[in-house]
Amino acid sequence: MSENKIPYKIYLSEDEMPKAWYNLRADMTNKPAPLLNPGTLRPMTREELDGVFCDELVKQELDDTTPYFEIPQEIRDFYKMYRPSPLVRAYCLEEKLQTPAKIYYKFEGNNTSGSHKLNSAIAQAYYAKKQGLKGVPTETGAGQWGTALSMACSYLGLDCKVYMVKCSYEQKPFRREVMRTYGASVTPSPSNTTAVGRKILAEHPDTTGSLGCAISEAVEVATSHPGYRYVLGSVLNQVLLHQSVIGLECKTALDKYGVKPDVIIGCAGGGSNLGGLIAPFMGEKLRGEADYRFIAVEPASCPSLTRGKYAYDFCDTGMVCPLAKMYTLGSGFIPSANHAGGLRYHGMSSTLSQLYADGYMEATSVEQTKVFEAAEYFARVEGILPAPESSHAIRVAIDEALKCKETGEEKTILFGLTGTGYFDLVAYQKFNDGAMTDYIPTDEDIAASLAQLPKVE
Ligand SMILES: *Cc1c(COP(=O)(O)O)cnc(C)c1O
Repeated sequence: MSENKIPYKIYLSEDEMPKAWYNLRADMTNKPAPLLNPGTLRPMTREELDGVFCDELVKQELDDTTPYFEIPQEIRDFYKMYRPSPLVRAYCLEEKLQTPAKIYYKFEGNNTSGSHKLNSAIAQAYYAKKQGLKGVPTETGAGQWGTALSMACSYLGLDCKVYMVKCSYEQKPFRREVMRTYGASVTPSPSNTTAVGRKILAEHPDTTGSLGCAISEAVEVATSHPGYRYVLGSVLNQVLLHQSVIGLECKTALDKYGVKPDVIIGCAGGGSNLGGLIAPFMGEKLRGEADYRFIAVEPASCPSLTRGKYAYDFCDTGMVCPLAKMYTLGSGFIPSANHAGGLRYHGMSSTLSQLYADGYMEATSVEQTKVFEAAEYFARVEGILPAPESSHAIRVAIDEALKCKETGEEKTILFGLTGTGYFDLVAYQKFNDGAMTDYIPTDEDIAASLAQLPKVE
């Protein structure tokens, strides 16, 4: 089909939507390193993980050989409420930039939670329900994951307990109320409802909390209450598996028009949207069928891939979770108050970490004022108010398109637009008032944090 026939939005019919998730690990020669038991430092067994996560999700977590997992019909029906998500040809942005590059973005913000996180929330809630569980405790930072999970739980009739980082609980009352509207209970973390929360509060009475701390509380609730299992919105292999629906839809839509991207760009917090977006394309690269450039974009204030170390580390502050081998800044690393809450995690998915270590993917970091400049530019040209997290990918997509303008290359760029920024208007206000700053950790800051890494051979 000729170039000028490509519509502004490429939709798929219900029949064309993915019927199975793709497990990228099946095509990796060097598999991601296994999770380790924090006590024994031995690989976590299925039985040990069964006490923390639902049985079916443990199977998905540990399986690095099965390429496809069928998406249960109930989940496919739920997906139909807000998927397929639009794949947009950014004609307006191309025109404004005067670039010969062709730009596409996959927009995941078209649901109430406002991000891609619902894709995995519904899957995790479904398997918990199927196992006959009562509910799922979790943590949330900025609130996107908690919102997505509360939507999934209310649909399936599960109890949803959200530990929300205290400063967000206070600063983002609207997200909190969306969660409560969907029936979730929301507790500011650290709280006195858990032993680990009470311990942290005794040591640091004025703390405003952190994601690592909220994870510790949610895991404690899961392991101490019968009928409850922990769920997590990013980082884990199972989450990347569910998010492959993003990349699979992109691939089907682009294949329909014979379009092959040269560069695929995504923001990277724990790595789930990027892992999902690139999955089928990376599979082709791993099997030697096609080549693509993949770029992970992270904030300069929390640069785990670009400045962290590839090592085993704790996933949480309380050190109760399994250890994962990943690019990390150290579990005690507290990033500065960056406005992209979803990108403030100290580590990175072990699957993406391995791919990066093996040279299959590039990574770059960008400063927050540059990110908001791109966000504002994009909002004015393409109409969508982007989430600060997503705007990291916009920044690099625009930079790549501007390079094409210099060289005259007609590259095809695909990027992930993970969500909307309606709950981030305090950050936009800072930017509009000219009061936004860029804090970049020093080498000494990072070295001090990395010195605390657990000793694992
Ligand atoms: C959570 C979040 C991210 C980052 O998480 P990943 O697991 O790295 O995808 C990015 N964008 C939005 C809108 C988010 O809510």
